[in-house]
Amino acid sequence: MTTTDHYAFASTAAEQIIKGMGIVSLPIDPKAIARDREIEVVAKPMENEGVSGMLVRFGNNFAIAYATHLQNEGFENFSVSHELGHYFLPGHADAVISGDSGAHLSRAGFSSTNKFEIEADRFAASFLMPRHLFYPAIQQAGCGLGAIENLAMLCKTSLHATAIRYTQCTREPVAIIISRGGTIDHCFMSPSLKNIEGIDWLKKRGGVPRNTTTYTFNQVEDNVLHGVRMQATSNVQEWFGGRRSIEISEDVVGLGRYGKTLTVLYDINIPEPEDEEDEEALIESWTPRFKR
Ligand SMILES: [Zn+2]
Repeated sequence: MTTTDHYAFASTAAEQIIKGMGIVSLPIDPKAIARDREIEVVAKPMENEGVSGMLVRFGNNFAIAYATHLQNEGFENFSVSHELGHYFLPGHADAVISGDSGAHLSRAGFSSTNKFEIEADRFAASFLMPRHLFYPAIQQAGCGLGAIENLAMLCKTSLHATAIRYTQCTREPVAIIISRGGTIDHCFMSPSLKNIEGIDWLKKRGGVPRNTTTYTFNQVEDNVLHGVRMQATSNVQEWFGGRRSIEISEDVVGLGRYGKTLTVLYDINIPEPEDEEDEEALIESWTPRFKR
């Protein structure tokens, strides 16, 4: 299953900037990079909680303000990088700010459907977690939620953004789900999981499946607010349907003030169709034949 990625150029642009600056280690410091370009960066309490940051323009001078209400350094880095996306990506500044002076209010964090916001989000994720530095880090990170937590600590990024980037970059079959209560906000599957035959796309299934740890976890609001963490097992059928009953790992963590839950599904070892055929043939060959 292949789909064209219309936003890949925003990722590539971000990675080329990091490479061009000769940065060879994580974390990336977007505030320092902005200040190097004489872009003023200020923390600002935003009146509207949905607003993550602002890009302000006076002629050829730019300033960035970022929201602090989530008290999350990773989210702040993402917000600043999102604004840098509007600054660096061709056509953005003119598209999001009309005229040569004004301000753009951003809603960073994968919830907007606006083209420019999606592009700036993609830019931000790749700016903070460029593949040439992130791939080697994945090799050292472990698996499941633990891997995502290690990478978030290394990159100074939010668990949410790190989880999405991890799913795009890992070779393992992994899915991450962001949910609130009984509803799936969004989910991402790694390329190797998408290529497995006979499983459904999660988004087609809508709600959080009832027999899962995530569903039970989300019944208690404090679990989300206090960042409670659970490691459990689940079954591939609960989440993806299909005909195979195979145990998988399900890690769950509350994302605090963000008000949402991150679920990581991994250890998804589904046999290749050829292997299954081989097995069936083997069973067949060992079954005594009485018919003569
Ligand atoms: Zn924006």
